[in-house]
Parts: sequence; C-alpha cells; structure tokens
Amino acid sequence: MNVYKRIYREIKKYQTIVIARHIGADPDALGSTLGLKDVILNTFPNKKVYTVGTPASKHKYIGQLDTFDESMYNNSLLIVLDTPDIKRVDGVDPLKFSKKIKIDHHPLVDKYCDIEVIDTSSSSASQLILELVFSTKLKLNKSGAEKLFTGIVGDTNRFLFYYSSYRTFYLVSRLLKETNIDITKVYESMYLKSIEDKKLQSYIVNNIKITDYSLGYIMINQDILDELNTDVATITNIVNDLTYIKEMVAWVIFAYDKANNNIRASIRSRGPIINEIASKYNGGGHIYASGARLDNFDEALKMVEDLNDVCKTYLDKI
Ligand code: AMP
Repeated sequence: MNVYKRIYREIKKYQTIVIARHIGADPDALGSTLGLKDVILNTFPNKKVYTVGTPASKHKYIGQLDTFDESMYNNSLLIVLDTPDIKRVDGVDPLKFSKKIKIDHHPLVDKYCDIEVIDTSSSSASQLILELVFSTKLKLNKSGAEKLFTGIVGDTNRFLFYYSSYRTFYLVSRLLKETNIDITKVYESMYLKSIEDKKLQSYIVNNIKITDYSLGYIMINQDILDELNTDVATITNIVNDLTYIKEMVAWVIFAYDKANNNIRASIRSRGPIINEIASKYNGGGHIYASGARLDNFDEALKMVEDLNDVCKTYLDKI
C-alpha cells in the first residue's frame, strides 16, 4: 500500500493526534504542522489534534500552538514533521508514543518512527503534506492551505531555489485552484519589514567580509547585538536575504546566543555543498541551507576556513 494511504489509515484510527517539529521553529516547520492540524480537523472534526513545541513570536501569524501535557503520551499518534534528528524534536519525547510517523525532506539522520517518509527532492515538509492530502481522503480547507503555502514559500524563499520543482508548482497550483487563498495576504504576513529591520540588513551588507574564494562571513558578538538593538534570531535570519550577491557563492552569519551561551551559525550557498561542514560542527541541514551551534568565535573561524575550502573546490570545478 502507498505510504500516504498507510498514514491516512493511522490518522483515521487514532482519536488523539500530536504533531511535532524541530526546535527553532521556522515557517515550514510551523506551516506544515499547523496546516496538517487544520486539514485533519476539517476531515475529522471530532478528533483531538495538538501541535506542540516552543512558539516563535515572529511567526505567530501562522497560528496558535497547543500546550503539551504528559497524558497525551497515552494512546495517541505522534506525527513529526521536518525533523531528521530525534534530539531536535521540540517539546515531546517521541520514544514515549506507541505509534510514530515522520514526514521529512531533510537527508536521513535518525530513524526513530514506525513509518517514515523521507523525500529530499521535496522543497519542504509543507509540500509533503500536500502530497499526503492529495493522495488520500484528507480535505484541504482555506486556513490549512494558507499555512501550507506559507511553509513552501518560506523554504523555497518565494520559489527561488532549485528544489522548487514541477511537483512544487503542480501541488501549489492545485492548492490555489481548490482553495483560492489570497497569496498577497500571505506574502505580507511573511515579508513586511520595519525600516529598522531593513537597516539591520544594511549593517550586514556593509560589514560582511568576503574571502578570495567568494565566501561571505560576519561575526556578531553581544556588543554589536546591543548596539543594533536586536537579537540572535533576527540577525541570523538575514542570511536568507543575501542570496543574489554576485561576489558570494556561500555565506554565513555567526551570532552570539546569550540564552544558550554559544554561537549560532546560519549558512547558505548557491553552489558549494555546505551541510557536510555543518555536520562536522555538530550541526546539519540541507546541501544549500544549514546551521550549527559553536562554542566560541575561535571555532567559528575554523568553520570559516572549512567553508572557504569547500568554496575553493567548487570554484575550481566550474
Ligand atoms: P537556519 O540557518 O537556522 O535557518 O537553518 C537552516 C537549516 O539547517 C534548517 O534546515 C535547519 O533544520 C538546519 N539546522 C540549523 N541549525 C541546526 C543545528 N544546530 N543542528 C542541525 N541542523 C540545523
């Protein structure tokens, strides 16, 4: 039986369903989990469905999260989206559920569920939820469609990246045809920025260093964060706005994370494969979009050297 039909059968069987995703929630993690919740409730209004994990205030427009309590471990189905490694599942211990399903588009790290759909050719976890919906009797509604569209737009950076395949456009086209959502409303929720946020972007562009092998990198310590009146999540997120700068084939923002007393690295590329370097530093991610946590800025400098080598190899080949 097709794996999506098997998943549908499990969803139908369980009265209570918990949906989880990775720590450090982004639009795809939130859009896929909240979108799936909407779709399940639209199909089976009497079920109890909970989306769990720490909320991210800057993405609260996507939807409200539920509070997890230990009783939910009993007799419920767990569906984990967008999370390849068990240690990064936010808010629940997957091993305490009797039945677990994982749907993900990252390269496999841990196998920790009974049913796993891993499709690295998919742009996003939200795209895989559309695959699930359109292969089964799950019913898409407008609110679920908005959330899934948000997730796809987030991970593809508005369909810029190569993994926006014909399949992505086909599924999105079907979503638009069936639900007629207002995409300008979605784009505004996601991309409307204050002038202060735009000034942060200018700070990065003005101060980023570029190596001879086209690696861009910048280190942001606590003094700079204070001076700019910003936080680690906001500043590292600017990595997504640097995609089409001619002089850089890969780029990384390092910023001090006071709460965790470590350095967050957000890395992007438009050619060199970067996730192997991220893994070397205990991080991970996709071939062109990765992240890691480092102990200090000395370690960050080592990572810069490794990323620079990867850029050199890439440039030698093209
Ligand atoms: P970010 O730069 O935080 O937006 O992350 C980009 C990608 O790298 C996402 O797919 C994350 O799941 C992955 N990623 C980020 N940080 C880590 C980490 N510390 N460990 C493993 N994967 C990570």
